[in-house]
Amino acid sequence: MLLAFDGRMQNDSGAGAATTAEADITQLLRELERRTRELQQSRSHFRDVIERNADAIVVVDRKGVIRFANDVAAALLRRQRADLTGTEFGFPVTAGETTELDLLHPDGVRVVEMRVVESEWEGEAAYIASLRDTTERRRAEEGARRLIREQAARSAAESAARRFRFQADAGTALSAQVDYAATVSTLASLCADEMADWVVIYAVDEHGKVRRVESAHCEPEHVETVRALRELPVPLDSGHPVLEVLRTRMPVLVTHADDDSADHGRASRLAHDDRHLEIIRRLGITSYLIVPLVARDRALGAIKLVSSRPDRRFNDDDLAWASDLASRAALALDNARLYQAAQEANHAKSDLLAVISHDLRTPLNAIIGYSELLSMGIPDPLTDAALVHVERVGKSAHHLLYLIDELSSFARIEAGSIAVKPQDVDVRALAQEVSTVMEPLAAERGLAFRVDLPLEPPVLHTDPDRLRQVLLNLTGNAVKYSQHGTIVLEVVPAADGGMVFHVRDNGIGISADHLAKIFDPFWQVDAQERTAIRGTGLGLSIVRRLVNMLAGEVSVESVVGEGSTFTVRLPGLGAERLGG
Ligand code: ADP
Repeated sequence: MLLAFDGRMQNDSGAGAATTAEADITQLLRELERRTRELQQSRSHFRDVIERNADAIVVVDRKGVIRFANDVAAALLRRQRADLTGTEFGFPVTAGETTELDLLHPDGVRVVEMRVVESEWEGEAAYIASLRDTTERRRAEEGARRLIREQAARSAAESAARRFRFQADAGTALSAQVDYAATVSTLASLCADEMADWVVIYAVDEHGKVRRVESAHCEPEHVETVRALRELPVPLDSGHPVLEVLRTRMPVLVTHADDDSADHGRASRLAHDDRHLEIIRRLGITSYLIVPLVARDRALGAIKLVSSRPDRRFNDDDLAWASDLASRAALALDNARLYQAAQEANHAKSDLLAVISHDLRTPLNAIIGYSELLSMGIPDPLTDAALVHVERVGKSAHHLLYLIDELSSFARIEAGSIAVKPQDVDVRALAQEVSTVMEPLAAERGLAFRVDLPLEPPVLHTDPDRLRQVLLNLTGNAVKYSQHGTIVLEVVPAADGGMVFHVRDNGIGISADHLAKIFDPFWQVDAQERTAIRGTGLGLSIVRRLVNMLAGEVSVESVVGEGSTFTVRLPGLGAERLGG
Protein backbone atom coordinates (compact mmCIF):
# COMPACT_ATOMS: atom_id res chain seq x y z
CA MET A 1 0.00 0.00 0.00
CA LEU A 2 2.75 2.47 0.87
CA LEU A 3 4.60 1.50 -2.30
CA ALA A 4 1.54 2.29 -4.43
CA PHE A 5 1.22 5.65 -2.66
CA ASP A 6 4.94 6.36 -3.35
CA GLY A 7 4.47 5.43 -7.04
CA ARG A 8 1.59 7.76 -7.45
CA MET A 9 3.60 10.57 -5.81
CA GLN A 10 6.32 10.09 -8.45
CA ASN A 11 3.94 10.04 -11.43
CA ASP A 12 1.69 13.10 -10.65
CA SER A 13 2.67 16.85 -10.54
CA GLY A 14 1.10 20.43 -10.10
CA ALA A 15 -1.94 21.75 -8.10
CA GLY A 16 -4.28 19.18 -9.47
CA ALA A 17 -1.78 16.72 -8.42
CA ALA A 18 -1.76 18.18 -4.91
CA THR A 19 -5.52 17.85 -4.64
CA THR A 20 -5.38 14.34 -5.85
CA ALA A 21 -2.65 13.58 -3.33
CA GLU A 22 -4.71 15.01 -0.50
CA ALA A 23 -7.66 12.88 -1.54
CA ASP A 24 -5.45 9.87 -1.69
CA ILE A 25 -4.06 10.52 1.79
CA THR A 26 -7.56 10.92 3.17
CA GLN A 27 -8.53 7.67 1.59
CA LEU A 28 -5.46 5.98 2.87
CA LEU A 29 -6.07 7.30 6.38
CA ARG A 30 -9.60 5.99 6.19
CA GLU A 31 -8.26 2.68 5.00
CA LEU A 32 -5.78 2.65 7.85
CA GLU A 33 -8.49 3.47 10.33
CA ARG A 34 -10.69 0.74 8.90
CA ARG A 35 -7.87 -1.76 9.06
CA THR A 36 -7.01 -0.73 12.62
CA ARG A 37 -10.62 -1.12 13.60
CA GLU A 38 -10.73 -4.49 11.93
CA LEU A 39 -7.55 -5.50 13.75
CA GLN A 40 -9.02 -4.36 17.04
CA GLN A 41 -12.22 -6.18 16.27
CA SER A 42 -10.28 -9.28 15.38
CA ARG A 43 -8.20 -9.02 18.59
CA SER A 44 -11.27 -8.50 20.64
CA HIS A 45 -12.94 -11.37 18.85
CA PHE A 46 -9.86 -13.51 19.53
CA ARG A 47 -9.93 -12.44 23.17
CA ASP A 48 -13.61 -13.24 23.25
CA VAL A 49 -13.00 -16.67 21.86
CA ILE A 50 -10.30 -17.29 24.43
CA GLU A 51 -12.47 -15.86 27.16
CA ARG A 52 -15.33 -18.19 26.47
CA ASN A 53 -13.29 -21.25 25.74
CA ALA A 54 -14.26 -24.37 27.66
CA ASP A 55 -10.57 -25.04 28.25
CA ALA A 56 -8.44 -22.99 30.54
CA ILE A 57 -6.39 -20.61 28.37
CA VAL A 58 -3.35 -18.77 29.61
CA VAL A 59 -1.41 -16.34 27.42
CA VAL A 60 2.23 -16.27 28.40
CA ASP A 61 4.76 -13.90 26.90
CA ARG A 62 8.26 -14.85 25.85
CA LYS A 63 9.56 -14.13 29.35
CA GLY A 64 7.12 -16.56 30.92
CA VAL A 65 4.86 -13.86 32.36
CA ILE A 66 1.10 -14.37 32.21
CA ARG A 67 -0.48 -11.76 29.99
CA PHE A 68 -3.97 -13.11 30.08
CA ALA A 69 -5.93 -15.95 31.71
CA ASN A 70 -9.58 -16.80 31.17
CA ASP A 71 -12.05 -17.63 33.95
CA VAL A 72 -11.61 -21.37 33.50
CA ALA A 73 -7.85 -20.96 33.88
CA ALA A 74 -8.28 -18.87 37.02
CA ALA A 75 -10.54 -21.55 38.48
CA LEU A 76 -8.15 -24.30 37.51
CA LEU A 77 -5.16 -22.50 38.96
CA ARG A 78 -7.25 -21.45 41.99
CA ARG A 79 -6.28 -17.79 41.61
CA GLN A 80 -8.06 -14.52 40.87
CA ARG A 81 -7.75 -13.47 37.24
CA ALA A 82 -6.45 -10.05 38.23
CA ASP A 83 -3.76 -11.71 40.39
CA LEU A 84 -2.69 -13.95 37.57
CA THR A 85 -1.97 -11.31 34.99
CA GLY A 86 1.63 -10.10 35.26
CA THR A 87 2.82 -13.04 37.38
CA GLU A 88 5.22 -15.82 36.42
CA PHE A 89 3.40 -18.74 34.85
CA GLY A 90 5.85 -21.11 36.57
CA PHE A 91 5.67 -23.96 34.05
CA PRO A 92 7.98 -24.41 31.08
CA VAL A 93 6.16 -23.69 27.83
CA THR A 94 7.36 -25.06 24.50
CA ALA A 95 5.39 -24.40 21.36
CA GLY A 96 3.91 -27.41 19.60
CA GLU A 97 4.20 -29.73 22.62
CA THR A 98 1.67 -31.34 24.85
CA THR A 99 2.83 -31.80 28.41
CA GLU A 100 1.32 -33.01 31.63
CA LEU A 101 1.30 -30.86 34.73
CA ASP A 102 0.53 -31.87 38.26
CA LEU A 103 -1.25 -29.03 40.04
CA LEU A 104 -1.03 -29.36 43.79
CA HIS A 105 -4.24 -28.22 45.39
CA PRO A 106 -5.17 -28.53 49.05
CA ASP A 107 -7.78 -31.15 48.10
CA GLY A 108 -5.37 -33.21 46.06
CA VAL A 109 -3.43 -33.28 42.84
CA ARG A 110 -5.11 -32.33 39.57
CA VAL A 111 -3.56 -33.78 36.47
CA VAL A 112 -3.61 -31.18 33.70
CA GLU A 113 -2.78 -31.60 30.03
CA MET A 114 -1.19 -28.51 28.48
CA ARG A 115 -1.02 -27.78 24.75
CA VAL A 116 1.00 -24.77 23.61
CA VAL A 117 0.86 -22.85 20.34
CA GLU A 118 2.90 -19.87 19.27
CA SER A 119 0.86 -16.79 18.53
CA GLU A 120 0.86 -13.11 19.34
CA TRP A 121 -0.89 -11.12 21.99
CA GLU A 122 -1.61 -7.49 21.59
CA GLY A 123 1.03 -7.18 18.93
CA GLU A 124 3.71 -9.12 20.76
CA ALA A 125 4.84 -12.67 20.24
CA ALA A 126 3.32 -14.91 22.88
CA TYR A 127 2.41 -18.50 23.71
CA ILE A 128 -1.13 -19.57 24.10
CA ALA A 129 -1.36 -22.47 26.50
CA SER A 130 -4.61 -24.37 26.72
CA LEU A 131 -4.96 -26.39 29.91
CA ARG A 132 -7.40 -29.22 30.34
CA ASP A 133 -8.07 -30.94 33.66
CA THR A 134 -7.81 -34.65 32.87
CA THR A 135 -7.99 -35.87 36.46
CA GLU A 136 -11.52 -37.27 36.18
CA ARG A 137 -10.94 -38.77 32.75
CA ARG A 138 -7.76 -40.42 33.99
CA ARG A 139 -9.53 -41.66 37.08
CA ALA A 140 -12.26 -43.13 34.88
CA GLU A 141 -9.67 -44.68 32.59
CA GLU A 142 -7.74 -46.11 35.55
CA GLY A 143 -11.05 -47.35 37.01
CA ALA A 144 -11.86 -49.05 33.74
CA ARG A 145 -8.39 -50.56 33.55
CA ARG A 146 -8.66 -51.75 37.16
CA LEU A 147 -12.07 -53.23 36.41
CA ILE A 148 -10.66 -55.07 33.44
CA ARG A 149 -7.72 -56.23 35.53
CA GLU A 150 -10.06 -57.31 38.33
CA GLN A 151 -12.37 -59.07 35.91
CA ALA A 152 -9.42 -60.81 34.32
CA ALA A 153 -8.08 -61.73 37.77
CA ARG A 154 -11.54 -62.94 38.84
CA SER A 155 -12.02 -65.02 35.77
CA ALA A 156 -8.46 -66.37 36.12
CA ALA A 157 -9.19 -67.17 39.77
CA GLU A 158 -12.49 -68.80 38.83
CA SER A 159 -10.86 -70.85 36.15
CA ALA A 160 -8.01 -71.80 38.54
CA ALA A 161 -10.58 -72.82 41.18
CA ARG A 162 -12.53 -74.79 38.56
CA ARG A 163 -9.39 -76.54 37.44
CA PHE A 164 -8.35 -77.20 41.01
CA ARG A 165 -11.79 -78.70 41.71
CA PHE A 166 -11.55 -80.70 38.53
CA GLN A 167 -8.08 -82.05 39.44
CA ALA A 168 -9.32 -82.99 42.92
CA ASP A 169 -12.46 -84.68 41.53
CA ALA A 170 -10.43 -86.38 38.84
CA GLY A 171 -7.91 -87.59 41.45
CA THR A 172 -10.72 -89.05 43.56
CA ALA A 173 -12.54 -90.57 40.58
CA LEU A 174 -9.37 -92.12 39.20
CA SER A 175 -8.06 -93.50 42.47
CA ALA A 176 -11.46 -95.05 43.19
CA GLN A 177 -10.93 -97.41 40.23
CA VAL A 178 -8.91 -100.59 40.29
CA ASP A 179 -10.21 -101.84 36.97
CA TYR A 180 -8.20 -100.77 33.90
CA ALA A 181 -11.17 -100.39 31.55
CA ALA A 182 -13.16 -98.43 34.12
CA THR A 183 -10.17 -96.15 34.79
CA VAL A 184 -9.72 -95.44 31.10
CA SER A 185 -13.39 -94.71 30.60
CA THR A 186 -13.53 -92.45 33.70
CA LEU A 187 -10.55 -90.55 32.37
CA ALA A 188 -12.05 -90.05 28.91
CA SER A 189 -15.41 -88.84 30.19
CA LEU A 190 -13.78 -86.52 32.75
CA CYS A 191 -11.79 -84.87 29.95
CA ALA A 192 -14.73 -84.63 27.56
CA ASP A 193 -16.90 -83.09 30.28
CA GLU A 194 -14.45 -80.47 31.34
CA MET A 195 -11.50 -79.94 29.04
CA ALA A 196 -12.25 -80.74 25.43
CA ASP A 197 -14.89 -81.48 22.83
CA TRP A 198 -13.54 -84.90 22.10
CA VAL A 199 -10.98 -87.14 23.65
CA VAL A 200 -9.08 -90.22 22.59
CA ILE A 201 -7.00 -92.38 24.95
CA TYR A 202 -4.19 -94.37 23.37
CA ALA A 203 -2.46 -97.35 24.98
CA VAL A 204 0.73 -99.20 24.16
CA ASP A 205 0.16 -102.95 24.33
CA GLU A 206 2.67 -105.60 25.38
CA HIS A 207 3.90 -105.89 21.76
CA GLY A 208 4.57 -102.16 21.50
CA LYS A 209 1.52 -101.57 19.28
CA VAL A 210 -0.47 -98.39 19.83
CA ARG A 211 -4.24 -98.72 20.06
CA ARG A 212 -7.11 -96.35 20.70
CA VAL A 213 -8.60 -97.84 23.87
CA GLU A 214 -11.21 -95.23 24.71
CA SER A 215 -12.87 -92.19 23.24
CA ALA A 216 -15.51 -89.73 24.33
CA HIS A 217 -17.34 -86.72 22.91
CA CYS A 218 -19.16 -84.03 24.85
CA GLU A 219 -22.04 -84.03 22.33
CA PRO A 220 -24.18 -87.18 22.39
CA GLU A 221 -24.69 -87.16 18.61
CA HIS A 222 -20.95 -87.55 18.00
CA VAL A 223 -20.33 -90.27 20.58
CA GLU A 224 -20.86 -93.07 18.04
CA THR A 225 -18.55 -91.44 15.50
CA VAL A 226 -15.64 -91.13 17.95
CA ARG A 227 -16.32 -94.66 19.16
CA ALA A 228 -15.97 -95.92 15.59
CA LEU A 229 -12.52 -94.34 15.45
CA ARG A 230 -11.42 -96.80 18.13
CA GLU A 231 -11.48 -99.61 15.61
CA LEU A 232 -8.80 -97.91 13.52
CA PRO A 233 -5.25 -99.06 14.16
CA VAL A 234 -2.41 -96.57 14.60
CA PRO A 235 0.22 -97.84 12.12
CA LEU A 236 3.69 -97.42 13.59
CA ASP A 237 4.93 -95.86 10.34
CA SER A 238 2.01 -93.45 10.01
CA GLY A 239 3.77 -90.35 11.37
CA HIS A 240 0.82 -89.82 13.73
CA PRO A 241 1.87 -87.25 16.37
CA VAL A 242 0.91 -89.65 19.19
CA LEU A 243 3.86 -91.83 18.12
CA GLU A 244 6.19 -88.86 18.50
CA VAL A 245 4.69 -88.11 21.94
CA LEU A 246 5.23 -91.72 23.03
CA ARG A 247 8.78 -91.78 21.67
CA THR A 248 9.89 -88.46 23.16
CA ARG A 249 7.53 -88.53 26.16
CA MET A 250 6.99 -84.83 25.45
CA PRO A 251 3.53 -83.34 24.93
CA VAL A 252 2.41 -81.77 21.65
CA LEU A 253 0.25 -78.64 21.45
CA VAL A 254 -1.27 -77.47 18.17
CA THR A 255 -3.23 -74.26 18.56
CA HIS A 256 -4.31 -73.89 14.92
CA ALA A 257 -5.08 -77.34 13.65
CA ASP A 258 -7.77 -75.88 11.37
CA ASP A 259 -5.22 -73.82 9.45
CA ASP A 260 -3.63 -76.59 7.42
CA SER A 261 -1.59 -74.27 5.23
CA ALA A 262 0.00 -72.42 8.14
CA ASP A 263 0.55 -75.46 10.27
CA HIS A 264 1.86 -77.86 7.68
CA GLY A 265 -1.34 -79.83 7.49
CA ARG A 266 -1.45 -80.67 11.20
CA ALA A 267 -5.05 -81.96 11.24
CA SER A 268 -4.33 -84.19 8.27
CA ARG A 269 -1.33 -85.67 10.11
CA LEU A 270 -3.82 -87.17 12.57
CA ALA A 271 -5.58 -89.11 9.81
CA HIS A 272 -4.41 -92.42 8.39
CA ASP A 273 -6.41 -92.11 5.16
CA ASP A 274 -8.95 -89.90 3.40
CA ARG A 275 -11.93 -91.51 5.12
CA HIS A 276 -10.36 -90.97 8.51
CA LEU A 277 -9.56 -87.35 7.65
CA GLU A 278 -13.12 -86.85 6.53
CA ILE A 279 -14.40 -88.14 9.92
CA ILE A 280 -11.99 -85.87 11.77
CA ARG A 281 -13.08 -82.86 9.73
CA ARG A 282 -16.75 -83.73 10.29
CA LEU A 283 -16.20 -83.80 14.04
CA GLY A 284 -14.40 -80.48 13.70
CA ILE A 285 -10.90 -79.72 14.87
CA THR A 286 -9.56 -76.28 15.62
CA SER A 287 -6.90 -77.13 18.16
CA TYR A 288 -5.53 -80.22 19.87
CA LEU A 289 -3.00 -81.40 22.40
CA ILE A 290 -1.51 -84.79 23.19
CA VAL A 291 0.05 -85.59 26.57
CA PRO A 292 1.92 -88.81 27.36
CA LEU A 293 0.80 -91.19 30.10
CA VAL A 294 4.03 -92.09 31.86
CA ALA A 295 4.16 -94.02 35.12
CA ARG A 296 7.06 -95.77 36.82
CA ASP A 297 9.22 -94.76 33.87
CA ARG A 298 7.02 -96.54 31.34
CA ALA A 299 5.12 -94.80 28.54
CA LEU A 300 1.73 -96.47 28.90
CA GLY A 301 -0.10 -94.39 26.32
CA ALA A 302 -1.32 -90.88 25.70
CA ILE A 303 -4.38 -88.64 25.97
CA LYS A 304 -5.45 -86.57 22.97
CA LEU A 305 -7.75 -83.63 23.67
CA VAL A 306 -9.42 -81.95 20.72
CA SER A 307 -11.31 -78.68 20.54
CA SER A 308 -13.81 -78.18 17.72
CA ARG A 309 -14.60 -74.59 18.62
CA PRO A 310 -12.79 -71.58 17.22
CA ASP A 311 -13.26 -69.81 20.58
CA ARG A 312 -11.41 -72.57 22.44
CA ARG A 313 -7.86 -72.93 21.32
CA PHE A 314 -5.62 -74.83 23.69
CA ASN A 315 -2.75 -72.88 25.19
CA ASP A 316 0.19 -73.50 27.52
CA ASP A 317 -2.13 -73.35 30.54
CA ASP A 318 -4.26 -76.15 29.12
CA LEU A 319 -1.13 -78.12 28.37
CA ALA A 320 0.09 -77.78 31.97
CA TRP A 321 -3.35 -78.76 33.21
CA ALA A 322 -3.56 -81.79 30.93
CA SER A 323 -0.02 -82.88 31.81
CA ASP A 324 -0.87 -82.78 35.51
CA LEU A 325 -4.00 -84.84 34.92
CA ALA A 326 -2.03 -87.26 32.74
CA SER A 327 0.53 -87.95 35.45
CA ARG A 328 -2.24 -88.80 37.96
CA ALA A 329 -4.10 -90.83 35.36
CA ALA A 330 -0.96 -92.73 34.37
CA LEU A 331 -0.39 -93.77 37.96
CA ALA A 332 -4.03 -94.83 38.34
CA LEU A 333 -3.81 -96.81 35.08
CA ASP A 334 -0.58 -98.47 36.12
CA ASN A 335 -2.07 -99.37 39.50
CA ALA A 336 -5.10 -100.82 37.73
CA ARG A 337 -2.79 -102.78 35.43
CA LEU A 338 -0.77 -104.11 38.38
CA TYR A 339 -3.94 -104.93 40.30
CA GLN A 340 -5.32 -106.78 37.29
CA ALA A 341 -2.04 -108.71 36.88
CA ALA A 342 -2.04 -109.54 40.60
CA GLN A 343 -5.65 -110.71 40.40
CA GLU A 344 -4.86 -112.92 37.43
CA ALA A 345 -1.80 -114.35 39.20
CA ASN A 346 -3.91 -114.97 42.28
CA HIS A 347 -6.57 -116.80 40.32
CA ALA A 348 -3.91 -118.84 38.56
CA LYS A 349 -2.43 -119.73 41.97
CA SER A 350 -5.82 -120.74 43.39
CA ASP A 351 -6.57 -122.85 40.29
CA LEU A 352 -3.20 -124.55 40.63
CA LEU A 353 -3.73 -125.19 44.33
CA ALA A 354 -7.15 -126.67 43.70
CA VAL A 355 -5.82 -128.98 41.00
CA ILE A 356 -2.78 -130.02 43.03
CA SER A 357 -4.73 -130.74 46.18
CA HIS A 358 -7.27 -132.81 44.26
CA ASP A 359 -4.68 -134.77 42.27
CA LEU A 360 -2.53 -135.50 45.32
CA ARG A 361 -5.38 -136.70 47.48
CA THR A 362 -6.21 -139.74 45.31
CA PRO A 363 -2.78 -141.49 45.46
CA LEU A 364 -2.40 -140.42 49.09
CA ASN A 365 -5.65 -142.11 50.08
CA ALA A 366 -4.33 -145.25 48.44
CA ILE A 367 -1.12 -145.02 50.53
CA ILE A 368 -3.15 -144.52 53.73
CA GLY A 369 -5.53 -147.37 52.87
CA TYR A 370 -2.75 -149.85 52.04
CA SER A 371 -0.64 -148.93 55.08
CA GLU A 372 -3.72 -149.51 57.29
CA LEU A 373 -4.27 -152.91 55.65
CA LEU A 374 -0.60 -153.79 56.21
CA SER A 375 -0.81 -152.70 59.90
CA MET A 376 -3.88 -154.94 60.25
CA GLY A 377 -1.77 -157.89 58.97
CA ILE A 378 -3.41 -158.03 55.52
CA PRO A 379 -2.41 -159.88 53.46
CA ASP A 380 0.26 -161.22 55.95
CA PRO A 381 1.15 -160.32 59.52
CA LEU A 382 4.17 -157.96 59.77
CA THR A 383 7.18 -158.23 62.00
CA ASP A 384 7.26 -155.65 64.86
CA ALA A 385 10.02 -153.72 63.13
CA ALA A 386 8.09 -153.68 59.83
CA LEU A 387 4.93 -152.58 61.70
CA VAL A 388 6.77 -149.56 63.13
CA HIS A 389 7.84 -148.56 59.62
CA VAL A 390 4.41 -149.04 58.14
CA GLU A 391 2.82 -147.00 60.95
CA ARG A 392 5.31 -144.18 60.24
CA VAL A 393 4.31 -144.30 56.59
CA GLY A 394 0.64 -144.08 57.62
CA LYS A 395 1.29 -141.15 60.01
CA SER A 396 3.27 -139.20 57.44
CA ALA A 397 0.61 -139.86 54.85
CA HIS A 398 -2.05 -138.55 57.29
CA HIS A 399 0.04 -135.44 57.92
CA LEU A 400 0.40 -134.96 54.18
CA LEU A 401 -3.34 -135.31 53.81
CA TYR A 402 -3.85 -132.68 56.50
CA LEU A 403 -1.51 -130.32 54.65
CA ILE A 404 -3.32 -130.97 51.39
CA ASP A 405 -6.67 -130.37 53.07
CA GLU A 406 -5.41 -127.03 54.31
CA LEU A 407 -4.17 -126.11 50.86
CA SER A 408 -7.45 -127.09 49.31
CA SER A 409 -9.48 -125.19 51.96
CA PHE A 410 -7.40 -122.12 51.29
CA ALA A 411 -7.77 -122.50 47.53
CA ARG A 412 -11.55 -122.90 47.84
CA ILE A 413 -11.88 -119.89 50.14
CA GLU A 414 -9.73 -117.81 47.78
CA ALA A 415 -11.82 -118.90 44.81
CA GLY A 416 -14.94 -117.88 46.75
CA SER A 417 -16.38 -121.37 46.38
CA ILE A 418 -17.15 -121.91 50.05
CA ALA A 419 -20.74 -121.20 51.01
CA VAL A 420 -21.86 -120.39 54.52
CA LYS A 421 -24.88 -122.39 55.70
CA PRO A 422 -26.05 -120.94 59.00
CA GLN A 423 -28.22 -122.91 61.42
CA ASP A 424 -28.82 -123.15 65.17
CA VAL A 425 -25.70 -124.81 66.52
CA ASP A 426 -25.40 -126.62 69.86
CA VAL A 427 -22.06 -125.14 70.87
CA ARG A 428 -21.61 -127.66 73.72
CA ALA A 429 -21.82 -130.59 71.28
CA LEU A 430 -19.52 -128.86 68.83
CA ALA A 431 -16.91 -128.19 71.53
CA GLN A 432 -17.09 -131.86 72.54
CA GLU A 433 -16.44 -132.92 68.93
CA VAL A 434 -13.32 -130.76 68.88
CA SER A 435 -12.23 -132.18 72.19
CA THR A 436 -12.71 -135.74 70.92
CA VAL A 437 -10.30 -135.09 68.05
CA MET A 438 -7.79 -133.02 69.99
CA GLU A 439 -7.56 -134.75 73.33
CA PRO A 440 -5.68 -137.83 72.00
CA LEU A 441 -3.34 -135.62 69.93
CA ALA A 442 -2.60 -133.50 73.00
CA ALA A 443 -2.12 -136.57 75.15
CA GLU A 444 0.39 -137.93 72.61
CA ARG A 445 2.48 -134.83 73.26
CA GLY A 446 2.05 -135.05 77.04
CA LEU A 447 -0.46 -132.19 77.16
CA ALA A 448 -3.80 -131.93 78.91
CA PHE A 449 -6.90 -130.77 77.00
CA ARG A 450 -9.90 -129.15 78.68
CA VAL A 451 -13.17 -127.56 77.51
CA ASP A 452 -14.73 -124.85 79.73
CA LEU A 453 -18.40 -124.32 78.94
CA PRO A 454 -21.01 -122.06 80.56
CA LEU A 455 -23.67 -123.72 82.70
CA GLU A 456 -26.53 -123.02 80.29
CA PRO A 457 -26.03 -125.01 77.08
CA PRO A 458 -25.42 -122.24 74.51
CA VAL A 459 -27.03 -122.18 71.07
CA LEU A 460 -25.55 -120.05 68.34
CA HIS A 461 -26.88 -119.29 64.87
CA THR A 462 -23.87 -119.92 62.65
CA ASP A 463 -22.31 -122.39 60.21
CA PRO A 464 -21.18 -125.39 62.33
CA ASP A 465 -18.75 -126.77 59.71
CA ARG A 466 -16.86 -123.49 59.43
CA LEU A 467 -16.84 -122.96 63.21
CA ARG A 468 -15.55 -126.52 63.74
CA GLN A 469 -12.79 -125.91 61.20
CA VAL A 470 -11.79 -122.71 63.01
CA LEU A 471 -11.66 -124.35 66.45
CA LEU A 472 -9.80 -127.42 65.15
CA ASN A 473 -7.19 -125.17 63.55
CA LEU A 474 -6.66 -123.07 66.69
CA THR A 475 -6.57 -126.02 69.08
CA GLY A 476 -4.36 -127.92 66.60
CA ASN A 477 -1.86 -125.02 66.65
CA ALA A 478 -2.05 -124.90 70.46
CA VAL A 479 -1.08 -128.58 70.57
CA LYS A 480 1.56 -128.15 67.86
CA TYR A 481 3.27 -125.22 69.54
CA SER A 482 3.21 -126.44 73.18
CA GLN A 483 5.54 -128.80 74.99
CA HIS A 484 3.78 -128.82 78.35
CA GLY A 485 0.73 -127.54 80.19
CA THR A 486 -2.95 -127.58 79.33
CA ILE A 487 -4.81 -126.56 76.24
CA VAL A 488 -8.10 -124.90 77.16
CA LEU A 489 -11.04 -124.26 74.86
CA GLU A 490 -13.27 -121.83 76.72
CA VAL A 491 -16.71 -120.77 75.51
CA VAL A 492 -18.24 -117.57 76.97
CA PRO A 493 -21.62 -116.13 75.95
CA ALA A 494 -21.32 -112.49 74.89
CA ALA A 495 -23.60 -109.69 76.05
CA ASP A 496 -25.00 -109.16 72.49
CA GLY A 497 -26.21 -112.77 72.30
CA GLY A 498 -23.10 -113.86 70.45
CA MET A 499 -20.35 -116.14 71.60
CA VAL A 500 -16.66 -115.77 72.46
CA PHE A 501 -14.24 -118.70 72.06
CA HIS A 502 -10.81 -118.62 73.74
CA VAL A 503 -8.12 -121.15 72.88
CA ARG A 504 -5.35 -120.99 75.51
CA ASP A 505 -2.05 -122.76 75.68
CA ASN A 506 1.13 -122.65 77.78
CA GLY A 507 3.26 -123.07 74.69
CA ILE A 508 6.20 -121.27 73.18
CA GLY A 509 4.28 -118.05 72.50
CA ILE A 510 4.71 -115.55 69.67
CA SER A 511 6.87 -112.42 69.84
CA ALA A 512 5.15 -109.03 69.48
CA ASP A 513 6.76 -108.23 66.11
CA HIS A 514 5.42 -111.49 64.64
CA LEU A 515 1.88 -111.10 65.96
CA ALA A 516 0.75 -108.80 63.16
CA LYS A 517 1.88 -111.23 60.46
CA ILE A 518 0.73 -114.63 61.68
CA PHE A 519 -2.66 -114.28 59.95
CA ASP A 520 -1.03 -113.70 56.55
CA PRO A 521 -1.12 -116.66 54.13
CA PHE A 522 2.02 -118.82 53.98
CA TRP A 523 3.59 -116.87 56.83
CA GLN A 524 5.41 -118.87 59.50
CA VAL A 525 7.65 -117.95 62.40
CA ASP A 526 10.99 -119.11 61.13
CA ALA A 527 12.81 -120.42 64.20
CA GLN A 528 14.76 -123.57 64.89
CA GLU A 529 13.32 -124.03 68.34
CA ARG A 530 9.84 -124.30 66.81
CA THR A 531 8.22 -127.67 66.77
CA ALA A 532 9.38 -130.28 64.31
CA ILE A 533 5.83 -130.52 62.95
CA ARG A 534 5.89 -128.25 59.93
CA GLY A 535 2.64 -126.75 58.76
CA THR A 536 1.76 -124.84 55.61
CA GLY A 537 1.56 -121.38 57.13
CA LEU A 538 -2.07 -121.29 55.98
CA GLY A 539 -3.95 -122.36 59.13
CA LEU A 540 -4.40 -118.91 60.68
CA SER A 541 -5.15 -117.19 57.38
CA ILE A 542 -7.91 -119.78 56.81
CA VAL A 543 -9.13 -119.10 60.37
CA ARG A 544 -9.32 -115.38 59.76
CA ARG A 545 -11.14 -115.75 56.46
CA LEU A 546 -13.65 -118.23 57.88
CA VAL A 547 -14.29 -116.05 60.94
CA ASN A 548 -14.87 -113.07 58.62
CA MET A 549 -17.32 -115.17 56.63
CA LEU A 550 -19.15 -115.81 59.90
CA ALA A 551 -19.23 -112.02 60.48
CA GLY A 552 -16.91 -112.34 63.46
CA GLU A 553 -13.36 -111.40 64.33
CA VAL A 554 -10.27 -113.14 65.62
CA SER A 555 -7.49 -111.74 67.76
CA VAL A 556 -4.45 -113.00 69.63
CA GLU A 557 -2.49 -112.25 72.78
CA SER A 558 0.77 -113.96 73.45
CA VAL A 559 3.88 -113.87 75.62
CA VAL A 560 6.99 -115.65 74.40
CA GLY A 561 7.74 -118.64 76.63
CA GLU A 562 4.44 -118.34 78.52
CA GLY A 563 1.76 -119.15 75.98
CA SER A 564 -0.88 -117.75 73.68
CA THR A 565 -4.60 -117.02 73.72
CA PHE A 566 -6.54 -116.86 70.45
CA THR A 567 -10.00 -115.28 70.75
CA VAL A 568 -12.83 -115.63 68.24
CA ARG A 569 -15.92 -113.43 68.64
CA LEU A 570 -19.02 -114.41 66.70
CA PRO A 571 -22.19 -112.34 66.56
CA GLY A 572 -25.43 -113.75 67.90
CA LEU A 573 -27.91 -112.50 65.35
CA GLY A 574 -28.19 -111.89 61.68
CA ALA A 575 -27.83 -114.91 59.51
CA GLU A 576 -28.15 -112.35 56.71
CA ARG A 577 -24.81 -110.88 57.79
CA LEU A 578 -23.06 -114.20 57.38
CA GLY A 579 -21.28 -115.18 54.23
CA GLY A 580 -18.58 -112.43 54.05
P1 ADP B 1 1.37 -123.23 60.43
O1 ADP B 1 0.92 -124.16 59.39
O2 ADP B 1 2.81 -122.84 60.32
O3 ADP B 1 0.97 -123.63 61.80
P2 ADP B 1 -0.45 -121.05 60.85
O4 ADP B 1 -1.01 -120.08 59.90
O5 ADP B 1 -1.42 -121.92 61.55
O6 ADP B 1 0.62 -121.87 60.06
O7 ADP B 1 0.38 -120.26 61.91
C1 ADP B 1 1.30 -119.31 61.50
C2 ADP B 1 2.46 -119.23 62.49
O8 ADP B 1 1.98 -118.70 63.73
C3 ADP B 1 3.02 -120.57 62.82
O9 ADP B 1 4.05 -120.90 61.93
C4 ADP B 1 3.51 -120.40 64.23
O10 ADP B 1 4.85 -119.97 64.24
C5 ADP B 1 2.65 -119.33 64.82
N1 ADP B 1 1.61 -119.87 65.72
C6 ADP B 1 0.33 -120.17 65.43
N2 ADP B 1 -0.34 -120.61 66.52
C7 ADP B 1 0.55 -120.59 67.54
C8 ADP B 1 0.48 -120.92 68.93
N3 ADP B 1 -0.63 -121.39 69.51
N4 ADP B 1 1.62 -120.77 69.67
C9 ADP B 1 2.76 -120.32 69.12
N5 ADP B 1 2.89 -119.98 67.81
C10 ADP B 1 1.81 -120.11 67.04
